[in-house]
Amino acid sequence: MQKRDTPESCAFPLWYNATTSEPKFTMSNPVANALTMQIAQVVPCTEAEGPGKRFAIWFQGCPLRCPGCCNPEFLPFKGGQTKTAAEMVEWLTRTRDESGIEGITLLGGEPFAHALPAVALARTAKQLGLSVMVFSGYVLEDLRAKAEPEIAELIDLTDILVDGPYDRDKPDTERRWIGSTNQRIHFLTNRYQFDEQWRKKNTLEIRVIGREISVNGFPAKDAVGLWKGWTRKKPLPLATPTSSPDSRGADSK
Ligand code: SF4
Repeated sequence: MQKRDTPESCAFPLWYNATTSEPKFTMSNPVANALTMQIAQVVPCTEAEGPGKRFAIWFQGCPLRCPGCCNPEFLPFKGGQTKTAAEMVEWLTRTRDESGIEGITLLGGEPFAHALPAVALARTAKQLGLSVMVFSGYVLEDLRAKAEPEIAELIDLTDILVDGPYDRDKPDTERRWIGSTNQRIHFLTNRYQFDEQWRKKNTLEIRVIGREISVNGFPAKDAVGLWKGWTRKKPLPLATPTSSPDSRGADSK
């Protein structure tokens, strides 16, 4: 396969939140279209949700209630937007080609409460040569004890599982991408290991799109809630050919 030139970092991050605008899709796979999923948010190219550049998907709906959950708006199973597997696969494939992402990250909401669509996304990721990282509020032992075959399949497809409920009283400042010290990192395949990149400072990405602000990454105690309800009085100016998209505030750090 011919190698494409792709940016080294997520310099041109697209962003989609179920409450705001969304990219246009074309329906291309009627079989996959039969499977739908509730999506709260997607950041198609992020460096704040696992190793390298990743396509991050937040499912809408979680049965757990971790005190201090950073995404309370993603807890109800009603809400978000309904997307077909075909739409998501097309988006993921296009992003892989354009941005050179190395994997997908599934978050919540609780990915294992959406195991069927999560398996569809993880299978596709593997077919595209991408890695799969999953954040779950359940611990691995409890997941392995569940009877649903799709849960077992999702575990089998996962390269990195970060498990356990988020605990706001145990913020993790040592392990990049990890919310609290009680959460464990399971390298379920040999694709990754705990190396230097996990010991770097944590990452928080802030994006401003029009009058909306989006934050993802490390839920630093001092930062949680700072952006909630934030709305610009005036839209930011559009980028000109001499200014990068980051000058609009779509910054990552
Ligand atoms: S598992 Fe995640 S989304 Fe669910 S309550 Fe805990 S922190 Fe929030």
